[in-house]
Amino acid sequence: MKFSDIIGNQAAKDHLRRLIDNDTMPHALLIHGAAGTGKLALARAAAQYIHCTNRTNGEPCGVCPACKQHINFNHADTFFSFPIVKKKGYTVSDDYITEWKSFLLNNPIESFEHWLNELKAENSQPIIYVNESENILRKMSYASYSSKYKVLIMWLPEKMKEDCANKLLKLLEEPFSDSLFILVSENPKAILPTIFSRVQRLELKKLSTPEVAAYLQSRYGLDEQNALAVAAPADGNILIAEENITLDGENKEFFQYFTSLMRLAYSRDLKSLKKWAEEVHAFKREKARRFLQYAARMIRENFIYNIHVKELNYLNSPEEQFSTRFAPFINENNVEQMINEIEKADIDIQGNANGKIVLFDFAIRITILIKR
Ligand SMILES: [Zn+2]
Repeated sequence: MKFSDIIGNQAAKDHLRRLIDNDTMPHALLIHGAAGTGKLALARAAAQYIHCTNRTNGEPCGVCPACKQHINFNHADTFFSFPIVKKKGYTVSDDYITEWKSFLLNNPIESFEHWLNELKAENSQPIIYVNESENILRKMSYASYSSKYKVLIMWLPEKMKEDCANKLLKLLEEPFSDSLFILVSENPKAILPTIFSRVQRLELKKLSTPEVAAYLQSRYGLDEQNALAVAAPADGNILIAEENITLDGENKEFFQYFTSLMRLAYSRDLKSLKKWAEEVHAFKREKARRFLQYAARMIRENFIYNIHVKELNYLNSPEEQFSTRFAPFINENNVEQMINEIEKADIDIQGNANGKIVLFDFAIRITILIKR
């Protein structure tokens, strides 16, 4: 893992590089901050950079024996600790190392949901148990094998049980001179205060939409326009953007239903609108609500399109094609009311009102508003 593999957060990466180059890494560093930014990947890049014997232009070289071991997950002075589900023969992180490698390889941006899937533990709550602290104490007390520093990367210290944390305290207070802890947290407020007060902190910032889009382009081969369209509603969180790619089929369907709603509303075809309402109702509640969110986004995007602020627009190609003709109908006379109607329909559907009636009523209001 190189620093350049991690999107954005240049300042945090530069800070980490400086700490390592100047040999001033704190004994315990906590990386935290915005979700879906690749905090765990950054911790791994830091560990590889610490161990690389031929650092080049602020990056690990990628070819020295230490780098190769990092790439193959068998570096003798690097340890991982993470939440697990206890079962027979599986009591510490090391017992799950196969699952862990597969998790890291398949998920450049870590997610707890994906880890649950990897553990096949959807209904359990993985935890860092007290056995883990004993294991860590043992490993960290050995002399390092081939490097100046042993590095322990702990993912989600907020999932640590109190007895585990208590055993680690001494190690954090009086660390061995050759040991470094890098903790990676999604929720630092949930870390036990005794641990939290003993770490230095490094915060990652939320990514920008173009940064998320750049990631989608390089990982999924999307073109720039589609990548930006998927990235925009994700609000800087790569994990949400990735979900939106998987939902691509659903988005296509929503696009069809949105365009037909607007065409039918324009031509005041009430009979077809009634059928439209029945079909959207058949989506079932949560999907119908996702459709309404999609419709709200399209209304906003078309208003922006209409006032010619193209650089603020995030539409994929079919959406944009539709907008060239449709956008003039969304203007300052109706944009706010349309959004209000969508929100109202969403609240009614959420509150278990009769969806068919709510959606037909909503479609009629759009018929009135579209001619304003
Ligand atoms: Zn190297």
